[in-house]
Amino acid sequence: MDDADDLWAALVEYIGEVAERLQDPAPAAVGATWAIDENARGLPSWMNSELAYVAGFALVEWLISRAAEVSELRMRDSEEFLFALVRKLQSRYVLDPIERPAHRRTCSVCGERAVIVSWVVDDTGEAACRVCGATYGTEAIQHGEADG
Ligand SMILES: [Zn+2]
Repeated sequence: MDDADDLWAALVEYIGEVAERLQDPAPAAVGATWAIDENARGLPSWMNSELAYVAGFALVEWLISRAAEVSELRMRDSEEFLFALVRKLQSRYVLDPIERPAHRRTCSVCGERAVIVSWVVDDTGEAACRVCGATYGTEAIQHGEADG
């Protein structure tokens, strides 16, 4: 099971819950899910990345067109789980370290001006020293503690 499977399964489970509460049939793409004992596990093996993109888009479109009703359901637990997963995967795949030498901060561990913000999504993020590898969490980034 890989990251795409995790994300697909989380999205499908969330949509399934929304569809049930709204008494609104889930989009057909939900049916294309690899499941074991009715628990969504991921993408079916026949689905390639192009099909997965189209199907994923259909799922998201379905949710967006019901955004007002969905927000009334107040499914905070499911939403936090899903969004946390999306953020985790974004940090892994989408966002490369942003090179802005002028904004490098001084590392409080090794003293080099080599601390670069790797990624910040909403209120989570991380900065790392390119020289010694020391990492700094969101708190440190926001409060400038990495300035030393
Ligand atoms: Zn360092």
